[in-house]
Amino acid sequence: MPGPLHPQLLARARATRTYLAAGVLVGTLTAVLVVAQAWLVSDRVAYVVETHRPDGLATTVGWLVLVLLGRALLRGVNPWLGQRAAAVVKGGLRRDVAAARLARPLDPRSDTGGLVELVTHGLDALDGYYAKYLPQLLLAVTVPLVVGIALLATDLLTAVIVVLTIGLIPFFMVLIGWATERRMNRRWAVQAKLAHHFADLVAGLPTLQVFGRARAQAIGLQKIEARNRAETMGTLRISFLSSMALELLSTLSVAIIAVSIGLRTVAGGMDLRTALFLLVLAPEVYLPLRQVGAHYHDSAEGIAAADRAFAEIDAPRVTGGLQAAPDPATTPLHIRGLQVTYPGADRPALDGLDLQLAPGEVVAVVGPSGGGKSTLLSVLMGFVRPTAGEVVLGDVPLADIDPDSWRARIAWVGQSPGLPERTVGANVALGAPGAPAEAIRRALDRAGAADLELSHPVGDESTGLSDGERRRVGLARALLRLNHGGASLLLLDEPTAGLDSGTEARVLAALREDRLTALVVTHRPAVIAACDRVVTVGPVGTVGPVGTVAPSAPTDAGASVEEVRA
Ligand code: ADP
Ligand code: MG
Repeated sequence: MPGPLHPQLLARARATRTYLAAGVLVGTLTAVLVVAQAWLVSDRVAYVVETHRPDGLATTVGWLVLVLLGRALLRGVNPWLGQRAAAVVKGGLRRDVAAARLARPLDPRSDTGGLVELVTHGLDALDGYYAKYLPQLLLAVTVPLVVGIALLATDLLTAVIVVLTIGLIPFFMVLIGWATERRMNRRWAVQAKLAHHFADLVAGLPTLQVFGRARAQAIGLQKIEARNRAETMGTLRISFLSSMALELLSTLSVAIIAVSIGLRTVAGGMDLRTALFLLVLAPEVYLPLRQVGAHYHDSAEGIAAADRAFAEIDAPRVTGGLQAAPDPATTPLHIRGLQVTYPGADRPALDGLDLQLAPGEVVAVVGPSGGGKSTLLSVLMGFVRPTAGEVVLGDVPLADIDPDSWRARIAWVGQSPGLPERTVGANVALGAPGAPAEAIRRALDRAGAADLELSHPVGDESTGLSDGERRRVGLARALLRLNHGGASLLLLDEPTAGLDSGTEARVLAALREDRLTALVVTHRPAVIAACDRVVTVGPVGTVGPVGTVAPSAPTDAGASVEEVRA
């Protein structure tokens, strides 16, 4: 079970420690006020009872009002401080999760639905942890301590009873905590599944509609929803039951103290003032501890979210070295015995690939779908670390090169170019920030998108553009990066699928004209013919040996399929 304090939140979120210091101060002040209040009440009541004279009542009431105002103020300040700490910590964690995810954009382990759930609603659970649970936890430490000292100074027996009984509350809380943690983890998994399922469903709606399966999905959604409801109710059940158990425990403890005080007072062993003081104070020892139990569930949810965030942040990422990247325009690239096995996969995505890329060479990469072509490009961009083999630039291994400086040398067009929501011009400009408008225009023209306005809006998820137009914008972005962004190695992942043959010819001509170094994944004979060499990538045995084949012999069935489409 998670300890009362999350060690990583403590160690890595500085706002947590600042808050803890402030919280201890607030808790101690609260405890002092609690003792003062008990003393004011018992002293004046005992005086009035013993002397039958209402002397000094007004003064006492005045002091009591001040003490109560002080307690109210502290009670308000505590969650406010917690909320501020929560805001700072959440902001930091969101930034770190986003940065960690950006550092490994192709990691299959974190699903998008779960990630979105985590950085939005998930981390908000820390509000409860900081604004409710932590303030209460600090009160539960400081108040019993200070009040306990006051009790000890007044009556030894009461202090002993308190020490003996108060230990039971954390003990029961630990037991309850174990049960809760398992529940929380299950509930989290169900919730993430629901989010994931829903995101998938929305993305696949057009397909589901076409095949008439949209309605059937509602049943699946209902099932997950029902499980989610059951898990939530289960968590709530434990929560209510545990509150009741703790309530019962502290009530019984106070009753024992009351009986012992009552017997001694009747027997004349204790004066009224002391008896009243002890009676008023005793419940105050148990109250904050009990309330910690009530807020434990806020804590469990916050801690679960923090754990997920730290898992995301600490997941291994491909790190590079510190050496500045050599220029691929002048440095040859060697790939030797490259093997990549994705985590959890039973066979390698790439197995024993050898490839040389001389400066100024344009090499076509062909192979069956799923053969590892995109994986090869991911390795070259430093997003995927090879399981075996190496990539060497000149004589420097890619692993020793600073990834940012290396990526600055690369222009890449993926199979589905990511186009954020902004104009076409701004999307192209991402390739070389600050490039002049004429350069952007020229890049679009060369990519076969002469008819696309710079100001044409691109919507969320690239709506507003056809598939072919998206590819052209992606291509224009890469061309701009080569001409104005300092890149000199072009990586194209099936760049001309979706382009007509006239445009394709123009694009290829533009590439040749720039005398680039390029690796072009393609199925199309026209593209293959325009390259210097062809390399086949794929499982050995299905497509033939890995190696170099003649440009005129595209081996995979994909080529003809693409041709029919074009
Ligand atoms: P290609 O681009 O030649 O179609 P890929 O390189 O995309 O092939 O994929 C090669 C193999 O690796 C496939 O079996 C694919 O399922 C798997 N694969 C690709 N990307 C990932 C990933 N991020 N995580 C796990 N497996 C992956
Ligand atoms: Mg691919």
